[in-house]
Amino acid sequence: MAWDFETDPEFQRELDWIAQFVRERVEPLDAVLGSPWNIHDPRFEQHVRPLQAQVKARGLWACHLGPELGGAGYGQVKLALMNEILGRSSFGPIVFGCQAPDSGNSEILAHYGTPQQKRRWLQPLLDNRIVSCFAMTEPQGGADPAVFTTCAVREGDEWVITGRKWFASNARFAAFFLVVAVTDAQAPVTAGQSMFIVPAGTPGLSIVRDVGIGDEPEATHGYLDFDHVRVPVDHILGQPGKAFEVAQVRLGGGRVHHAMRTIGLAQKALDAMCERALSRRTQGSLLADKQMVQERIADSWIELEQFRLLVLRTAWRIDHYKDYRRVRQDIAAVKAAMPRVLHDIAARALHLHGSIGVSTEMPFAGMVLRAFQMGLADGPTEVHKITVARQELRRHQASAALFPAYHKPTAAAQARAVLGMDGDVPA
Ligand SMILES: Cc1cc2nc3c(=O)[nH]c(=O)nc-3n(C[C@H](O)[C@H](O)[C@H](O)COP(=O)(O)OP(=O)(O)OC[C@H]3O[C@@H](n4cnc5c(N)ncnc54)[C@H](O)[C@@H]3O)c2cc1C
Repeated sequence: MAWDFETDPEFQRELDWIAQFVRERVEPLDAVLGSPWNIHDPRFEQHVRPLQAQVKARGLWACHLGPELGGAGYGQVKLALMNEILGRSSFGPIVFGCQAPDSGNSEILAHYGTPQQKRRWLQPLLDNRIVSCFAMTEPQGGADPAVFTTCAVREGDEWVITGRKWFASNARFAAFFLVVAVTDAQAPVTAGQSMFIVPAGTPGLSIVRDVGIGDEPEATHGYLDFDHVRVPVDHILGQPGKAFEVAQVRLGGGRVHHAMRTIGLAQKALDAMCERALSRRTQGSLLADKQMVQERIADSWIELEQFRLLVLRTAWRIDHYKDYRRVRQDIAAVKAAMPRVLHDIAARALHLHGSIGVSTEMPFAGMVLRAFQMGLADGPTEVHKITVARQELRRHQASAALFPAYHKPTAAAQARAVLGMDGDVPA
Protein backbone atom coordinates (compact mmCIF):
# COMPACT_ATOMS: atom_id res chain seq x y z
CA MET A 1 0.00 0.00 0.00
CA ALA A 2 1.58 3.26 -1.16
CA TRP A 3 0.70 6.09 1.21
CA ASP A 4 3.81 8.09 1.76
CA PHE A 5 4.70 11.61 2.92
CA GLU A 6 8.44 11.41 2.30
CA THR A 7 10.56 12.86 -0.48
CA ASP A 8 13.20 10.53 -1.87
CA PRO A 9 16.72 11.66 -0.91
CA GLU A 10 17.79 12.21 -4.52
CA PHE A 11 14.97 14.65 -5.23
CA GLN A 12 15.36 16.24 -1.80
CA ARG A 13 18.91 17.18 -2.83
CA GLU A 14 17.45 19.00 -5.83
CA LEU A 15 14.88 20.74 -3.61
CA ASP A 16 17.64 21.84 -1.23
CA TRP A 17 19.60 23.24 -4.16
CA ILE A 18 16.49 25.05 -5.47
CA ALA A 19 15.72 26.52 -2.03
CA GLN A 20 19.22 27.93 -1.63
CA PHE A 21 19.39 29.16 -5.22
CA VAL A 22 16.00 30.91 -4.96
CA ARG A 23 16.86 32.51 -1.63
CA GLU A 24 20.33 33.72 -2.60
CA ARG A 25 20.06 34.43 -6.32
CA VAL A 26 16.43 34.74 -7.40
CA GLU A 27 14.62 36.56 -4.57
CA PRO A 28 16.99 39.56 -4.87
CA LEU A 29 15.66 40.15 -8.40
CA ASP A 30 12.22 40.93 -6.94
CA ALA A 31 13.69 43.89 -5.09
CA VAL A 32 15.22 45.63 -8.10
CA LEU A 33 13.71 44.52 -11.42
CA GLY A 34 10.28 45.24 -12.94
CA SER A 35 7.86 42.70 -14.38
CA PRO A 36 9.35 39.18 -14.66
CA TRP A 37 7.71 38.90 -18.12
CA ASN A 38 9.56 41.95 -19.42
CA ILE A 39 12.18 39.93 -21.25
CA HIS A 40 12.88 43.02 -23.37
CA ASP A 41 14.41 44.87 -20.43
CA PRO A 42 18.22 44.84 -20.96
CA ARG A 43 18.62 43.99 -17.27
CA PHE A 44 16.73 40.74 -17.92
CA GLU A 45 19.48 39.64 -20.30
CA GLN A 46 22.13 40.61 -17.79
CA HIS A 47 20.66 39.26 -14.56
CA VAL A 48 18.03 36.64 -15.38
CA ARG A 49 19.47 34.78 -18.38
CA PRO A 50 22.56 33.54 -16.47
CA LEU A 51 20.32 32.12 -13.74
CA GLN A 52 18.14 30.40 -16.34
CA ALA A 53 21.30 28.88 -17.82
CA GLN A 54 22.20 27.45 -14.40
CA VAL A 55 18.73 25.96 -14.02
CA LYS A 56 18.94 24.39 -17.49
CA ALA A 57 22.39 22.97 -16.76
CA ARG A 58 21.00 21.35 -13.61
CA GLY A 59 18.14 19.76 -15.58
CA LEU A 60 15.45 21.71 -13.74
CA TRP A 61 14.17 23.83 -16.65
CA ALA A 62 10.45 23.69 -17.54
CA CYS A 63 9.77 20.74 -15.27
CA HIS A 64 6.03 20.96 -15.96
CA LEU A 65 6.78 19.52 -19.42
CA GLY A 66 7.55 16.00 -20.47
CA PRO A 67 10.99 15.06 -21.85
CA GLU A 68 9.70 15.24 -25.44
CA LEU A 69 9.34 19.01 -24.94
CA GLY A 70 12.58 19.54 -23.07
CA GLY A 71 11.28 19.21 -19.51
CA ALA A 72 12.10 16.66 -16.84
CA GLY A 73 8.56 15.25 -16.87
CA TYR A 74 8.52 15.23 -13.10
CA GLY A 75 4.76 15.04 -12.75
CA GLN A 76 2.62 17.19 -10.47
CA VAL A 77 3.82 16.03 -7.04
CA LYS A 78 7.46 16.87 -7.67
CA LEU A 79 6.34 20.03 -9.43
CA ALA A 80 4.33 20.98 -6.34
CA LEU A 81 7.38 20.55 -4.11
CA MET A 82 9.40 22.71 -6.50
CA ASN A 83 6.70 25.32 -7.04
CA GLU A 84 6.17 25.89 -3.34
CA ILE A 85 9.77 27.10 -3.25
CA LEU A 86 9.54 29.11 -6.48
CA GLY A 87 6.37 30.80 -5.22
CA ARG A 88 8.45 32.78 -2.71
CA SER A 89 9.73 34.95 -5.54
CA SER A 90 7.90 36.64 -8.43
CA PHE A 91 10.95 35.80 -10.60
CA GLY A 92 11.09 32.17 -9.41
CA PRO A 93 8.84 30.69 -12.12
CA ILE A 94 10.47 32.51 -15.04
CA VAL A 95 13.98 31.58 -13.89
CA PHE A 96 12.83 27.93 -13.91
CA GLY A 97 10.86 28.20 -17.19
CA CYS A 98 7.44 27.38 -15.73
CA GLN A 99 5.71 30.76 -15.52
CA ALA A 100 2.03 31.31 -16.23
CA PRO A 101 0.50 31.96 -18.70
CA ASP A 102 3.33 30.66 -20.93
CA SER A 103 3.31 27.25 -19.20
CA GLY A 104 -0.38 26.69 -19.98
CA ASN A 105 -0.08 28.22 -23.44
CA SER A 106 2.82 25.91 -24.27
CA GLU A 107 0.79 22.95 -23.03
CA ILE A 108 -2.07 23.66 -25.44
CA LEU A 109 0.30 24.45 -28.30
CA ALA A 110 2.01 21.12 -27.69
CA HIS A 111 -1.32 19.35 -27.43
CA TYR A 112 -3.24 20.95 -30.30
CA GLY A 113 -0.68 22.84 -32.42
CA THR A 114 0.11 21.88 -36.01
CA PRO A 115 3.80 21.14 -36.77
CA GLN A 116 4.07 24.60 -38.31
CA GLN A 117 2.48 26.33 -35.28
CA LYS A 118 4.79 24.44 -32.96
CA ARG A 119 7.86 25.41 -34.96
CA ARG A 120 6.93 29.07 -35.03
CA TRP A 121 5.61 29.57 -31.50
CA LEU A 122 6.18 26.60 -29.22
CA GLN A 123 9.93 26.20 -29.28
CA PRO A 124 10.78 29.90 -28.73
CA LEU A 125 8.18 29.97 -25.94
CA LEU A 126 9.70 26.93 -24.25
CA ASP A 127 13.10 28.58 -24.50
CA ASN A 128 11.66 31.84 -23.05
CA ARG A 129 12.95 33.69 -26.10
CA ILE A 130 9.38 35.04 -26.34
CA VAL A 131 6.47 35.36 -23.92
CA SER A 132 2.78 34.98 -24.69
CA CYS A 133 -0.67 36.20 -23.69
CA PHE A 134 -3.97 34.39 -23.13
CA ALA A 135 -6.88 36.67 -24.08
CA MET A 136 -10.22 35.16 -23.13
CA THR A 137 -12.00 37.36 -20.59
CA GLU A 138 -14.13 40.26 -21.82
CA PRO A 139 -14.93 43.52 -20.02
CA GLN A 140 -18.72 43.09 -20.12
CA GLY A 141 -18.85 39.50 -18.98
CA GLY A 142 -15.74 38.34 -17.20
CA ALA A 143 -14.82 34.73 -17.78
CA ASP A 144 -18.38 33.59 -18.56
CA PRO A 145 -18.03 32.28 -22.12
CA ALA A 146 -21.78 32.47 -22.64
CA VAL A 147 -21.59 36.25 -22.91
CA PHE A 148 -18.45 36.65 -25.03
CA THR A 149 -19.02 38.92 -27.99
CA THR A 150 -15.59 38.97 -29.66
CA CYS A 151 -16.21 37.16 -32.92
CA ALA A 152 -14.26 35.81 -35.87
CA VAL A 153 -15.75 35.65 -39.36
CA ARG A 154 -14.25 33.60 -42.15
CA GLU A 155 -13.41 35.63 -45.27
CA GLY A 156 -11.65 33.58 -47.94
CA ASP A 157 -8.36 32.30 -46.53
CA GLU A 158 -8.56 34.50 -43.45
CA TRP A 159 -10.41 34.88 -40.19
CA VAL A 160 -11.38 38.44 -39.28
CA ILE A 161 -11.53 39.03 -35.51
CA THR A 162 -13.48 41.91 -33.98
CA GLY A 163 -14.11 42.68 -30.32
CA ARG A 164 -12.48 43.52 -26.99
CA LYS A 165 -10.60 41.47 -24.44
CA TRP A 166 -9.85 42.36 -20.85
CA PHE A 167 -7.18 41.61 -18.29
CA ALA A 168 -4.95 39.93 -20.85
CA SER A 169 -1.86 39.58 -18.64
CA ASN A 170 1.51 40.47 -20.19
CA ALA A 171 -0.07 41.65 -23.45
CA ARG A 172 2.54 44.38 -23.78
CA PHE A 173 5.43 41.90 -23.72
CA ALA A 174 3.80 39.11 -25.72
CA ALA A 175 4.93 37.89 -29.14
CA PHE A 176 1.55 36.27 -29.73
CA PHE A 177 -1.93 36.10 -28.29
CA LEU A 178 -4.20 33.11 -27.85
CA VAL A 179 -7.62 34.61 -28.43
CA VAL A 180 -11.03 33.04 -27.87
CA ALA A 181 -13.64 34.25 -30.37
CA VAL A 182 -17.20 33.28 -31.27
CA THR A 183 -17.26 31.57 -34.68
CA ASP A 184 -20.83 30.26 -34.56
CA ALA A 185 -23.20 32.35 -32.46
CA GLN A 186 -26.02 29.81 -32.86
CA ALA A 187 -24.03 26.87 -31.51
CA PRO A 188 -23.65 26.10 -27.78
CA VAL A 189 -20.56 27.51 -26.05
CA THR A 190 -18.76 24.18 -26.30
CA ALA A 191 -19.08 24.16 -30.10
CA GLY A 192 -19.35 27.80 -31.16
CA GLN A 193 -16.06 29.37 -30.07
CA SER A 194 -12.59 28.94 -31.55
CA MET A 195 -9.06 29.66 -30.36
CA PHE A 196 -6.82 31.79 -32.58
CA ILE A 197 -3.12 32.54 -32.57
CA VAL A 198 -2.72 36.24 -33.26
CA PRO A 199 0.86 37.49 -33.71
CA ALA A 200 1.69 40.75 -31.90
CA GLY A 201 1.75 43.67 -34.32
CA THR A 202 -1.04 42.30 -36.51
CA PRO A 203 -2.84 45.36 -37.94
CA GLY A 204 -6.03 46.20 -36.04
CA LEU A 205 -4.81 44.77 -32.71
CA SER A 206 -4.09 47.44 -30.13
CA ILE A 207 -3.78 47.82 -26.38
CA VAL A 208 -6.38 50.36 -25.24
CA ARG A 209 -4.55 50.60 -21.94
CA ASP A 210 -2.59 48.50 -19.48
CA VAL A 211 -4.28 47.99 -16.15
CA GLY A 212 -2.10 47.92 -13.03
CA ILE A 213 -2.62 45.93 -9.86
CA GLY A 214 -1.56 46.80 -6.30
CA ASP A 215 2.15 46.52 -5.82
CA GLU A 216 3.02 45.05 -9.22
CA PRO A 217 5.96 47.04 -10.55
CA GLU A 218 4.37 47.71 -13.95
CA ALA A 219 0.83 47.86 -15.34
CA THR A 220 0.68 44.70 -17.43
CA HIS A 221 -2.93 43.56 -17.77
CA GLY A 222 -3.98 44.57 -21.26
CA TYR A 223 -7.35 45.93 -22.33
CA LEU A 224 -7.24 44.84 -25.97
CA ASP A 225 -9.10 46.05 -29.04
CA PHE A 226 -9.46 43.80 -32.08
CA ASP A 227 -10.57 45.96 -34.98
CA HIS A 228 -10.97 43.63 -37.97
CA VAL A 229 -7.78 41.76 -37.15
CA ARG A 230 -6.99 39.38 -40.01
CA VAL A 231 -5.18 36.09 -39.48
CA PRO A 232 -4.67 33.27 -42.00
CA VAL A 233 -6.95 30.22 -41.62
CA ASP A 234 -4.06 28.13 -40.36
CA HIS A 235 -3.85 30.36 -37.25
CA ILE A 236 -6.68 28.51 -35.55
CA LEU A 237 -5.51 26.35 -32.62
CA GLY A 238 -7.34 23.04 -32.32
CA GLN A 239 -10.58 22.27 -34.12
CA PRO A 240 -12.88 25.15 -35.14
CA GLY A 241 -15.55 25.62 -32.49
CA LYS A 242 -13.51 23.85 -29.82
CA ALA A 243 -11.94 26.74 -27.88
CA PHE A 244 -13.68 25.65 -24.70
CA GLU A 245 -12.09 22.21 -24.85
CA VAL A 246 -8.66 23.68 -25.67
CA ALA A 247 -8.90 26.20 -22.82
CA GLN A 248 -9.84 23.54 -20.29
CA VAL A 249 -6.58 21.70 -20.96
CA ARG A 250 -4.59 24.69 -19.75
CA LEU A 251 -6.87 25.85 -16.95
CA GLY A 252 -6.91 22.65 -14.89
CA GLY A 253 -3.14 22.46 -14.52
CA GLY A 254 -2.76 26.23 -14.28
CA ARG A 255 -5.03 26.47 -11.24
CA VAL A 256 -3.07 23.85 -9.35
CA HIS A 257 0.25 25.48 -10.26
CA HIS A 258 -1.01 28.81 -8.84
CA ALA A 259 -1.93 26.96 -5.66
CA MET A 260 1.51 25.35 -5.40
CA ARG A 261 3.18 28.76 -5.69
CA THR A 262 0.71 30.29 -3.22
CA ILE A 263 2.00 27.87 -0.57
CA GLY A 264 5.43 29.46 -1.01
CA LEU A 265 4.09 32.98 -0.69
CA ALA A 266 2.03 32.16 2.39
CA GLN A 267 5.05 30.40 3.92
CA LYS A 268 7.06 33.56 3.31
CA ALA A 269 4.46 35.57 5.25
CA LEU A 270 4.51 33.01 8.08
CA ASP A 271 8.32 33.10 8.18
CA ALA A 272 8.20 36.90 8.46
CA MET A 273 5.58 36.67 11.20
CA CYS A 274 7.75 34.32 13.25
CA GLU A 275 10.89 36.41 12.77
CA ARG A 276 9.01 39.50 13.90
CA ALA A 277 7.50 37.73 16.88
CA LEU A 278 10.94 36.57 18.00
CA SER A 279 12.54 40.00 17.41
CA ARG A 280 10.08 42.54 18.78
CA ARG A 281 9.59 43.36 22.47
CA THR A 282 6.69 45.41 23.68
CA GLN A 283 4.94 45.85 27.02
CA GLY A 284 7.52 43.84 28.87
CA SER A 285 7.90 40.76 26.72
CA LEU A 286 8.63 39.39 23.29
CA LEU A 287 5.68 39.23 20.90
CA ALA A 288 6.47 35.52 20.63
CA ASP A 289 5.64 35.08 24.32
CA LYS A 290 2.15 36.60 24.04
CA GLN A 291 -0.55 33.98 23.67
CA MET A 292 -2.66 35.85 21.13
CA VAL A 293 0.42 36.12 18.92
CA GLN A 294 1.08 32.42 19.41
CA GLU A 295 -2.50 31.69 18.40
CA ARG A 296 -2.01 33.58 15.12
CA ILE A 297 1.16 31.64 14.40
CA ALA A 298 -0.52 28.36 15.26
CA ASP A 299 -3.60 29.11 13.12
CA SER A 300 -1.37 30.11 10.21
CA TRP A 301 0.69 26.94 10.42
CA ILE A 302 -2.37 24.71 10.67
CA GLU A 303 -4.16 26.39 7.77
CA LEU A 304 -1.08 26.31 5.58
CA GLU A 305 -0.33 22.65 6.28
CA GLN A 306 -3.96 21.68 5.63
CA PHE A 307 -3.87 23.54 2.33
CA ARG A 308 -0.49 22.09 1.42
CA LEU A 309 -1.72 18.55 1.99
CA LEU A 310 -4.79 19.22 -0.16
CA VAL A 311 -2.60 20.60 -2.95
CA LEU A 312 -0.18 17.67 -2.75
CA ARG A 313 -2.97 15.13 -2.76
CA THR A 314 -4.55 16.86 -5.74
CA ALA A 315 -1.18 16.78 -7.51
CA TRP A 316 -0.89 13.09 -6.68
CA ARG A 317 -4.36 12.40 -8.07
CA ILE A 318 -3.51 14.24 -11.31
CA ASP A 319 -0.40 12.07 -11.70
CA HIS A 320 -2.33 8.95 -10.75
CA TYR A 321 -5.41 9.32 -12.97
CA LYS A 322 -3.82 11.36 -15.79
CA ASP A 323 -7.26 12.80 -16.41
CA TYR A 324 -8.13 16.28 -15.20
CA ARG A 325 -11.86 15.53 -15.36
CA ARG A 326 -11.49 12.91 -12.61
CA VAL A 327 -9.77 15.48 -10.40
CA ARG A 328 -12.19 18.32 -11.05
CA GLN A 329 -13.53 18.51 -7.53
CA ASP A 330 -10.05 18.50 -5.99
CA ILE A 331 -8.80 21.22 -8.34
CA ALA A 332 -11.86 23.36 -7.71
CA ALA A 333 -11.43 22.88 -3.95
CA VAL A 334 -7.78 23.92 -4.11
CA LYS A 335 -8.70 26.97 -6.19
CA ALA A 336 -11.47 27.96 -3.77
CA ALA A 337 -9.33 27.46 -0.64
CA MET A 338 -6.26 29.30 -1.96
CA PRO A 339 -7.36 32.97 -1.59
CA ARG A 340 -8.54 32.50 2.00
CA VAL A 341 -5.34 30.80 3.15
CA LEU A 342 -3.09 33.44 1.62
CA HIS A 343 -5.32 36.29 2.74
CA ASP A 344 -5.52 35.22 6.37
CA ILE A 345 -1.83 34.44 6.81
CA ALA A 346 -0.66 37.57 4.96
CA ALA A 347 -3.12 39.75 6.92
CA ARG A 348 -1.84 38.34 10.23
CA ALA A 349 1.74 39.00 9.15
CA LEU A 350 0.81 42.54 8.17
CA HIS A 351 -0.91 43.19 11.49
CA LEU A 352 1.92 41.74 13.57
CA HIS A 353 4.38 44.14 11.92
CA GLY A 354 2.41 47.17 13.14
CA SER A 355 2.67 50.40 11.22
CA ILE A 356 5.49 49.31 8.97
CA GLY A 357 3.38 46.25 8.13
CA VAL A 358 0.78 48.33 6.29
CA SER A 359 3.40 50.47 4.57
CA THR A 360 4.68 50.20 1.03
CA GLU A 361 8.05 49.29 2.56
CA MET A 362 6.73 45.84 3.41
CA PRO A 363 5.36 43.16 1.07
CA PHE A 364 2.27 42.27 3.10
CA ALA A 365 -0.29 44.63 1.55
CA GLY A 366 0.75 43.25 -1.84
CA MET A 367 0.31 39.70 -0.56
CA VAL A 368 -3.17 40.45 0.78
CA LEU A 369 -4.13 41.92 -2.58
CA ARG A 370 -2.59 38.92 -4.34
CA ALA A 371 -5.03 36.78 -2.34
CA PHE A 372 -7.92 38.66 -3.93
CA GLN A 373 -6.35 38.18 -7.37
CA MET A 374 -6.14 34.46 -6.66
CA GLY A 375 -9.86 34.53 -5.95
CA LEU A 376 -10.58 36.03 -9.38
CA ALA A 377 -8.02 34.95 -11.97
CA ASP A 378 -9.06 31.66 -13.62
CA GLY A 379 -12.60 32.21 -12.36
CA PRO A 380 -14.07 33.59 -9.13
CA THR A 381 -14.13 31.50 -5.96
CA GLU A 382 -17.92 31.17 -6.04
CA VAL A 383 -17.81 29.34 -9.37
CA HIS A 384 -15.29 26.81 -8.03
CA LYS A 385 -17.27 26.26 -4.84
CA ILE A 386 -20.29 25.49 -7.00
CA THR A 387 -18.18 22.84 -8.78
CA VAL A 388 -17.07 21.32 -5.47
CA ALA A 389 -20.64 21.17 -4.19
CA ARG A 390 -22.11 19.77 -7.41
CA GLN A 391 -19.47 17.07 -7.63
CA GLU A 392 -20.11 16.15 -4.02
CA LEU A 393 -23.89 16.10 -4.45
CA ARG A 394 -23.49 13.66 -7.37
CA ARG A 395 -22.23 11.08 -4.92
CA HIS A 396 -25.37 11.28 -2.81
CA GLN A 397 -29.02 10.35 -3.20
CA ALA A 398 -32.26 11.80 -1.89
CA SER A 399 -34.19 9.79 0.69
CA ALA A 400 -37.86 9.02 0.07
CA ALA A 401 -38.44 8.21 3.75
CA LEU A 402 -39.98 10.77 6.08
CA PHE A 403 -37.22 10.15 8.61
CA PRO A 404 -33.74 9.43 7.18
CA ALA A 405 -31.69 6.43 8.27
CA TYR A 406 -29.49 8.63 10.45
CA HIS A 407 -32.54 9.78 12.48
CA LYS A 408 -31.70 8.27 15.87
CA PRO A 409 -35.04 6.55 16.68
CA THR A 410 -35.21 5.24 13.09
CA ALA A 411 -31.59 4.04 13.26
CA ALA A 412 -32.27 2.32 16.62
CA ALA A 413 -35.40 0.58 15.25
CA GLN A 414 -33.45 -0.64 12.22
CA ALA A 415 -30.57 -1.80 14.41
CA ARG A 416 -32.93 -3.74 16.67
CA ALA A 417 -34.43 -5.45 13.63
CA VAL A 418 -31.03 -6.33 12.19
CA LEU A 419 -29.65 -7.57 15.51
CA GLY A 420 -32.78 -9.52 16.38
CA MET A 421 -33.38 -7.38 19.49
CA ASP A 422 -37.02 -6.54 18.72
CA GLY A 423 -38.23 -8.25 21.86
CA ASP A 424 -35.70 -6.48 24.12
CA VAL A 425 -36.65 -3.56 26.29
CA PRO A 426 -34.93 -0.45 24.89
CA ALA A 427 -32.20 0.95 27.18
C1 LIG B 1 -4.43 39.31 -11.84
C2 LIG B 1 -5.40 38.85 -12.90
C3 LIG B 1 -4.90 38.31 -14.06
C4 LIG B 1 -5.79 37.90 -15.06
N1 LIG B 1 -5.27 37.40 -16.22
C5 LIG B 1 -6.12 37.07 -17.22
C6 LIG B 1 -5.59 36.65 -18.48
O1 LIG B 1 -4.36 36.59 -18.68
N2 LIG B 1 -6.45 36.35 -19.48
C7 LIG B 1 -7.81 36.43 -19.31
O2 LIG B 1 -8.55 36.13 -20.24
N3 LIG B 1 -8.34 36.85 -18.12
C8 LIG B 1 -7.53 37.17 -17.09
N4 LIG B 1 -8.05 37.62 -15.88
C9 LIG B 1 -9.49 37.78 -15.75
C10 LIG B 1 -10.13 36.79 -14.81
O3 LIG B 1 -10.18 35.51 -15.35
C11 LIG B 1 -11.52 37.37 -14.48
O4 LIG B 1 -11.32 38.58 -13.75
C12 LIG B 1 -12.33 36.48 -13.66
O5 LIG B 1 -12.65 35.34 -14.40
C13 LIG B 1 -13.62 37.14 -13.16
O6 LIG B 1 -14.27 37.89 -14.16
P1 LIG B 1 -14.69 39.41 -13.84
O7 LIG B 1 -13.47 40.14 -13.42
O8 LIG B 1 -15.44 39.99 -15.00
O9 LIG B 1 -15.66 39.31 -12.64
P2 LIG B 1 -17.20 38.91 -12.67
O10 LIG B 1 -17.43 37.71 -13.49
O11 LIG B 1 -18.01 40.14 -12.95
O12 LIG B 1 -17.38 38.50 -11.15
C14 LIG B 1 -17.35 39.50 -10.13
C15 LIG B 1 -17.82 38.89 -8.84
O13 LIG B 1 -19.15 38.40 -8.99
C16 LIG B 1 -19.32 37.24 -8.21
N5 LIG B 1 -19.70 36.11 -9.07
C17 LIG B 1 -19.30 35.87 -10.36
N6 LIG B 1 -19.83 34.72 -10.81
C18 LIG B 1 -20.58 34.22 -9.79
C19 LIG B 1 -21.39 33.05 -9.61
N7 LIG B 1 -21.52 32.14 -10.60
N8 LIG B 1 -22.00 32.87 -8.42
C20 LIG B 1 -21.86 33.76 -7.42
N9 LIG B 1 -21.12 34.88 -7.53
C21 LIG B 1 -20.48 35.10 -8.69
C22 LIG B 1 -18.00 36.97 -7.52
O14 LIG B 1 -17.99 37.54 -6.24
C23 LIG B 1 -17.00 37.67 -8.42
O15 LIG B 1 -15.80 37.99 -7.76
C24 LIG B 1 -7.19 38.02 -14.86
C25 LIG B 1 -7.68 38.57 -13.67
C26 LIG B 1 -6.81 38.98 -12.70
C27 LIG B 1 -7.36 39.59 -11.45
